[in-house]
Amino acid sequence: MAEELNPFKIAQEQLDAAAELMNLDKQALAILREPMRTLIVNIPVKMDDGSTKTFTGFRVQYNDARGPGKGGIRYHPQESLDTVKALAAWMTWKTALANIPYGGAKGGIICDTKTMSESELEKISRGYIRALGRFIGPDVDIPAPDVYTTPQIMAWMMDEYSKLVGKNEFGTITGKPLEVWGSEGRSNSTAMGGMYIMREAAKLKGIDLKNAKIAIQGFGNAGNFAFDLAKRLFGSKIVAISDSQGGVYLEDGLEYDKLLKAKKETGSVQGYEGAEKITNEQLLESDVDILIPAAIENQVTKDNADKIKAKILLELANGPVTPEADNILFERGVFDLPDFLVNSGGVIVSYFEWVQNINGYYWDADDVYAKLDRIMTRSFNDVINMQKKFESNGKKINARMAAYIIAVDRVAKAMKARGWY
Ligand code: NAD
Repeated sequence: MAEELNPFKIAQEQLDAAAELMNLDKQALAILREPMRTLIVNIPVKMDDGSTKTFTGFRVQYNDARGPGKGGIRYHPQESLDTVKALAAWMTWKTALANIPYGGAKGGIICDTKTMSESELEKISRGYIRALGRFIGPDVDIPAPDVYTTPQIMAWMMDEYSKLVGKNEFGTITGKPLEVWGSEGRSNSTAMGGMYIMREAAKLKGIDLKNAKIAIQGFGNAGNFAFDLAKRLFGSKIVAISDSQGGVYLEDGLEYDKLLKAKKETGSVQGYEGAEKITNEQLLESDVDILIPAAIENQVTKDNADKIKAKILLELANGPVTPEADNILFERGVFDLPDFLVNSGGVIVSYFEWVQNINGYYWDADDVYAKLDRIMTRSFNDVINMQKKFESNGKKINARMAAYIIAVDRVAKAMKARGWY
């Protein structure tokens, strides 16, 4: 991995920049630059062909000054410790910005789910929990789904943890299916939260979402629901969408049902009939009002930042914009809303799920969305007000730095109150 694109280095650089702007205490910064606990485990799995394969798993517990660790688990063939560390750091800032009572954590296993059977997936998921069982739990660290992990995988993990402790512990994992007390509204919560931010950002920039053109990179959990919701809630026109194989473009706007059909029948959105095939690079540079990266890291870099035409960049994926690109976008006046603000809907509804599990009292979807909207809108306003505060002191900062300053300040104050420095 090229040094400048190492996600953990990027996370550290972003923190350093925020620390300088806010004059953060040096001792606090030293604590916050590294994870508090990094766990690496070997998971032996008896494969369907009778052989035993050993997989490497990670769990990084970045900081728990404000509460138990919280963060997803990714299954990916290119998973790396540095990616997990970066994501764990971003989870810390994400929960602090949302002002929910958690710290930050993240996990991952190096594996290719596309080549694994259902029974192999169940074994690797249960193996991960057996290896890490002593280090997680509803008061310690609460995992959730992320790239290539599903509610079913969360159900197996919750079940395995419950077996380890000898009682049902529904609150130890979130993103579970409803049958085992997942939350209403959880499946599309990341995208829904992103939509509330998009609504507020469009309002601020005077963009009418009904006539807005949108491009979305990625058609997984985040991108798929973002497509559906942007059309249903605001009537926006999604002109471009992509997945790992490439994208499609249609000036008049793509139809959700036809997209699902293309994905189902051909395995890719590129199977959409009647739309122009485009590359992921073209998708990012397409002539739209709003660009939503909803796939993987490092998509907008110094090489294409000056070609982005969107007025609003809504970071639904984690880490889609590199620090160099950040500066270029800011100078060009692109309103780039940072990942840990935009995609915090998932962890916020995860928090609601955990609250419901602990209390044994369950809410309906309308209740969940109304509570989510309140938190997302509050976070957006906090960020805008921090930008204004700096501007009134003669310094312009981008939305990412404003969000960092709010989050880092909250974590640093919790560490100070606890006597950590
Ligand atoms: P997913 O596995 O459901 O989907 C990933 C999508 O990205 C797929 O459509 C895949 O084809 C596409 N993709 C992969 N490589 C690509 C490439 N090189 N170019 C274009 N597309 C590519 O994952 P997800 O849950 O939708 O997560 C997407 C992003 O959103 C990640 O950065 C994740 O960390 C972030 N996120 C997700 C959630 C959530 O609740 N799902 C919450 C917060 C953040």
